[in-house]
Amino acid sequence: MDAAQPLIAAGRRFDARGWVLGTSGNFSAVVSRDPLRLAITRSGTHKGELTPDDILEYGDGVVLRGEGSASAETALHVEIVRARGAGAVMHTHSIWSTLLSHRYAEDGGLAISGYEMLKGLSGIASHEHREWLPILENDQDMPRLATVAAQVLADHPECHGFLLRRHGLYTWGATPAEAVRHVEILEFLLESVARSKETASWRS
Ligand SMILES: [Zn+2]
Repeated sequence: MDAAQPLIAAGRRFDARGWVLGTSGNFSAVVSRDPLRLAITRSGTHKGELTPDDILEYGDGVVLRGEGSASAETALHVEIVRARGAGAVMHTHSIWSTLLSHRYAEDGGLAISGYEMLKGLSGIASHEHREWLPILENDQDMPRLATVAAQVLADHPECHGFLLRRHGLYTWGATPAEAVRHVEILEFLLESVARSKETASWRS
């Protein structure tokens, strides 16, 4: 499957940064839109060690090609593809997204502004942009979580990603390359925001 290679490469990149430890994270790419078919990582795989056999084809609620089950979070991928017209969806479990998603959960999200790296987000031309990253309560009930995610995406049509509380980051892009870029940009921004709290005393 042509869609497999960019997902395998993304896994190696993110693993090198410690963003998909254990068997965490999942990635998908749209193979066709009508009917909707996704290439998606198999559940229980280490994302730094993916092989073509670990990328399944999913559609109509079932695995159409490949062995094993699709990621437990497939419903979220489908919801994001539908809501945003995304060509790829990527999910990471970094330490910084885990910590910040709890720290700002009561606010319902996290605002990031003033960073040059914001310009790496699709359609953003200035560091003065204010990116709102919504935070959703984590939930093991995937249909329910997908419903909440659909509402958040509708409420925040400008957002480039969202956080699940004490869980991780979801972002997407028109292509797998753009989705990878968004992961790198958002993870950089999250780490910068978190570390700037630690180093706040430098100003005095
Ligand atoms: Zn996850």
